Amino acid sequence: MELNKRQEQILQIVKDYGPITGESIAEKLNLTRATLRPDLAILTMAGYLEARPRVGYFYTGKTGKQLFADKMKKMKVEDYQSIPVVVNENVSVYDAIVTMFLEDVGTLFVVDDESLLAGVLSRKDLLRASLGKQELTAIPVNIIMTRMPNIAVCYKDDSLIDVAEQLIEKQIDAMPVVRKREKGYEVIGRITKTNITKAFVSLAKED
Ligand code: ADP
Repeated sequence: MELNKRQEQILQIVKDYGPITGESIAEKLNLTRATLRPDLAILTMAGYLEARPRVGYFYTGKTGKQLFADKMKKMKVEDYQSIPVVVNENVSVYDAIVTMFLEDVGTLFVVDDESLLAGVLSRKDLLRASLGKQELTAIPVNIIMTRMPNIAVCYKDDSLIDVAEQLIEKQIDAMPVVRKREKGYEVIGRITKTNITKAFVSLAKED
C-alpha cells in the first residue's frame, strides 16, 4: 500500500511521540481530529498503527513487507475456492474424460455412492489410462484414480498460503475443499493453481 504525504507525516509523529492521542496528532499537524480520522483509520486497518482506548496510537514497527505477508496469511480458502466437479467412482474413464472437457476443469474428484470423497483424477491419470488398448467405456475410474486415504484435502478456514505450499510440495494441481462427515469427507469446493494465481493478482489490485 502506498501511503500519502499526510499518512507519512502521521506515521512519523506516532513514531516520535507515541503513544499519542488522535487529538494531539491533529494539533501537531494544525488539522482537526475529524480531518485526520480517515487517515488514522487507514493506517490502523493496514496494520502500521495500533489504537488503544484511552492511551492513543502507537507504531507497530511493522514494515510494508511484513504487513503484506500478514495480509497474504489472512487469505482464506473459502474466499477463493471454486465449485468442485465430481464423478461417481463407477463411471467409466471415457465418461470422466467427457466430463473433464464439458466442465472445463483439469482435476475431477471422485465420490462413492454416499457422496463421500473416494479419489482424485488428474488429466495425466486419464491420459495414462488411454495409452493402452483397453476399452475406455469399460474401465471404471476407481481402477485408475489416486484413492483415499492418499488424497491431500483442505478446509474452508485454511489459509490459502498453506494450501499453495502443499500444492507445490506434493506436486499436484488441485485439492478438494472438504467438510468432515462421520464416515469420510464431503467435497464442498476446489482449490487449484488457477485460484492461487487469481488470489495473487487480487493482492496487487487491492487498494
Ligand atoms: P497431472 O497428473 O495432470 O500433472 P496433478 O499434478 O494434479 O496433475 O496430479 C499428479 C498426480 O497426483 C495424479 O496421479 C493425481 O491423481 C494425483 N493427485 C492430484 N491431486 C491430488 C490430491 N489432492 N491428493 C493426492 N493426490 C492427488
